[in-house]
Amino acid sequence: MNVNDSERMYSILEMSNFTPVEKPDQASLIIINSCSVREKPVHKVYSEVGTYRDLKKQNPDLLIGVGGCVGQQEKEKLIKNQPLIDFVFGTDAIDELPQTLQTLLGRSSSKDKVISAQFHHREPYHVDTLVRNPGVSTFVNITKGCDNFCTFCVVPFTRGREKSRPMKHVLMDLNGLVKRGVKEVTLLGQNVNSYTSDCGADFADLLKTVAMETGIERIRYTTSHPKDFNQKLMDVMAEHQNKICEYIHLPFQSGNSRILEKMNRGYTREEYLEKIKQIKATIPNVVLSTDIIVGFPGETEEEFQDTVRMVEEVGYETIFAFKYSPRPFTKAARFEEQIDEDIKSERLNRLFDVHDKLSFEWVKKYEGQTLKVLVEKVEGENKLSGRSTQNKVTFFEGPADLVGQTVPVKITRALPNVLRGQLES
Ligand code: SAH
Ligand code: SF4
Repeated sequence: MNVNDSERMYSILEMSNFTPVEKPDQASLIIINSCSVREKPVHKVYSEVGTYRDLKKQNPDLLIGVGGCVGQQEKEKLIKNQPLIDFVFGTDAIDELPQTLQTLLGRSSSKDKVISAQFHHREPYHVDTLVRNPGVSTFVNITKGCDNFCTFCVVPFTRGREKSRPMKHVLMDLNGLVKRGVKEVTLLGQNVNSYTSDCGADFADLLKTVAMETGIERIRYTTSHPKDFNQKLMDVMAEHQNKICEYIHLPFQSGNSRILEKMNRGYTREEYLEKIKQIKATIPNVVLSTDIIVGFPGETEEEFQDTVRMVEEVGYETIFAFKYSPRPFTKAARFEEQIDEDIKSERLNRLFDVHDKLSFEWVKKYEGQTLKVLVEKVEGENKLSGRSTQNKVTFFEGPADLVGQTVPVKITRALPNVLRGQLES
């Protein structure tokens, strides 16, 4: 989501005649776009801005801005705590960057700051997918915001209520991107499964239409919510497996039903496992990944063990696991029984140890297989990389003119995060 927001900022600035520079000391404008889903990145913003203190002294005209969720969440606080910052803008104010900069350039004193971090409800609420150089693979937003209010999560407060883009706008974006050479799209939303177009189409309808009516060769999407992932969607994925990648990111957060209830996730351990069973039965060779939180308030060792067992039982190729981090405005931040940082760290390490061992074994199955790899980058002389339909980054030898093509690669070595292989003729 943030990479996509940065791309949009970059494209908008380029259209306003800004050009990129190699080093910060050559810049007249520096924007930091950061995520606030966990606490660490918020601290990083302050320390990152601090590193520009000398630059600002040498060049008092240098403008420093903070955007994205941190901007949305912290607003005035950012400027108060870090006077080097000239402007703060929220997730909905990216399109207004040119006006914000104009205001700053016309200000009478460097003490005048600009804050544009309110939620705007305009139609259409998005500018089109403004991507400067979309390359082979790109993102397209289909929803913004979230209505789920998981008790740990700041997203509903930083990105506002959920809103779906009309299907016709998404299709227009995709057709435009295909003309510019894009082969693969990742449809983006906090909970894509609750997508509803103004024409009544749901997410499964949208995926099917994208597969059948656009020239996009490969379709991915993220993120799914287990409570809304339904059989209709599984059927569409199975029916269009030639285009829709057999990879699903399905965060479970905790393997224990009591904790899931306290998280307000809307499903139990059993219901999640039942969905996984249905998915595996419907989509051949499906590859799964997930998000997990350890040390949610009140989580006992036994309850944490339920999470470990879930990882062992389901067989995720990749897990994204985090220590619970209390976030402003959220319910769980006010729960009693907050868990000690040391216990959280220790649980996280144990979880990664279990998964590391398992994933080394699981990925071995790829050795000897021939996978369809969409070539994305030249990595060096006669060296290429791309991703398989299973979302595995794959390195192999081949000529630069293969970028943008899907080629068969026979896997010779499989590690949890990368595959190596040889181009098959
Ligand atoms: N919409 C997605 C995830 C959005 S945030 C979903 O519902 O799954 C991405 C991930 O960050 C979450 O899945 C969760 O695992 C993690 N996360 C969110 N808030 C967190 C918090 N307060 N502490 C630790 N991890 C958190
Ligand atoms: Fe956050 Fe839950 Fe919404 Fe995901 S579904 S963005 S975790 S509130």
